[in-house]
Amino acid sequence: MAKEKGLTPQSQDFNEWYNEVILRAELVDYGPVRGTMVIRPYGFGLWENIQRVLDDMFKATGHTNAYFPLFIPMSFFQKEAEHVEGFAPELAVVTHAGGEELEEPLAVRPTSETIIGYMWGKWIRTYRDLPQLLNQWGNVVRWELRTKPFLRTSEFLWQEGHTAHATQEEAEAEVRQMLGIYAKMSREWAAVPVWEGVKTESEKFAGAVYTTTIEAMMRDGKALQSGTSHYLGTNFARAFDIQFQDKDQQNKYVHTTSWGLSTRMVGAVIMTHGDDKGLILPPRLAPIQAVIVPIYKSDTREQVMPAVEKLTADLKAAGVRVHLDDRDQYSPGFKFNEWELKGVPLRLEIGPRDVEAGTAVLASRLGGKETVQISEIVATLPQRLEAFQQALYRRALEFRDSHTWEVDNYEEFKEKIEQGFVKAFHCGDEACERQIKAETTATTRCIPFDEPQAQGKCIRCGRESGYGKRILFAKAY
Ligand SMILES: [Zn+2]
Repeated sequence: MAKEKGLTPQSQDFNEWYNEVILRAELVDYGPVRGTMVIRPYGFGLWENIQRVLDDMFKATGHTNAYFPLFIPMSFFQKEAEHVEGFAPELAVVTHAGGEELEEPLAVRPTSETIIGYMWGKWIRTYRDLPQLLNQWGNVVRWELRTKPFLRTSEFLWQEGHTAHATQEEAEAEVRQMLGIYAKMSREWAAVPVWEGVKTESEKFAGAVYTTTIEAMMRDGKALQSGTSHYLGTNFARAFDIQFQDKDQQNKYVHTTSWGLSTRMVGAVIMTHGDDKGLILPPRLAPIQAVIVPIYKSDTREQVMPAVEKLTADLKAAGVRVHLDDRDQYSPGFKFNEWELKGVPLRLEIGPRDVEAGTAVLASRLGGKETVQISEIVATLPQRLEAFQQALYRRALEFRDSHTWEVDNYEEFKEKIEQGFVKAFHCGDEACERQIKAETTATTRCIPFDEPQAQGKCIRCGRESGYGKRILFAKAY
């Protein structure tokens, strides 16, 4: 690994940098079927930590996990007009099984609103059966033309939450609550700053009344939609006849929501923090938070190993995800490069003279080295990891804010959109939005919740703003 030439610099070709770093850091490999990816143990460890954080937050807010079948009758997709229109081009369909042609073709789920709607139609009878607060961890299949590991693959892992409520008010509160959980996970665990907001009509989920989103900025200035939460109104309730008898004896349709976050989040972590040496992982999600590299020759091995083994055991006992790199066949320099490539936040180097002096060299993946007392490492490392986490977030936030502009004329819009996010007024007309996309490849990312109310002229056509505030534009993955 380290014997190969360095990574392509981000400034030279960000796309190439990404393709190289994900393979060399052993996060993924390409599957034999075009558009599929193999998530290798190091990449899966990152995803598992994201899963754990989210799962805890879902359960703390009253949700429970369930599992619905992968195969969905094709007819289910015909029931909701916008849903079928949105998903039909990406469906993978099973027509044969057991050596015979099936009577009804089966879609491999691209998302589970339809099958869960169908089951709710059976389960929900009265207001006592509400709310339904479900989450599913699983895989979905969307036959994408252009694929990129973690960001867009024909099969990917995610969680999809589905809830049903008696009232619109309750359902809309759920939509915001779950988006808030995604934003919290993103900021506090992934150290990825995000904008929270509502999608414009043309960018919403197929079948939703509206879609809310978290949008992050990658180091090439492009946006990555990192999690979405949808208010589905009674669209799916009508399609699958999910009615309940309310307290007033009236039969009513339930209001449903769905929300999802996928392995895209791993892509967000890679592209928000990585540099020309490789990944930089946030300590709260890193599979390995600290690596210990012993430095010895054959005659000093016996002097060094007992000290580093004890330190490793003590750190593990203190809850630090620590790894002792005791491979004899690689030099310390090789190991340093490899762990830098893999983005491990902190590295401890300990040689025979260090053991004698009771010290170690502590190197941060964010730069800088210092000498520390071995006796103090167990007590201080958790704080150092926390400081690393905060510094990483600040760095990402500064990058994002210095690449975000408020713009009021279209020439400047075209210039700034090449470098990052633009906040501008827009008329709200879909045709005008399509023109901007055709001319600049930029899309509306969201109507941010936090943006103050203001009036202005549409950046492209000059008509009055349709949203009463600036909205966020960017080129996006
Ligand atoms: Zn316009």
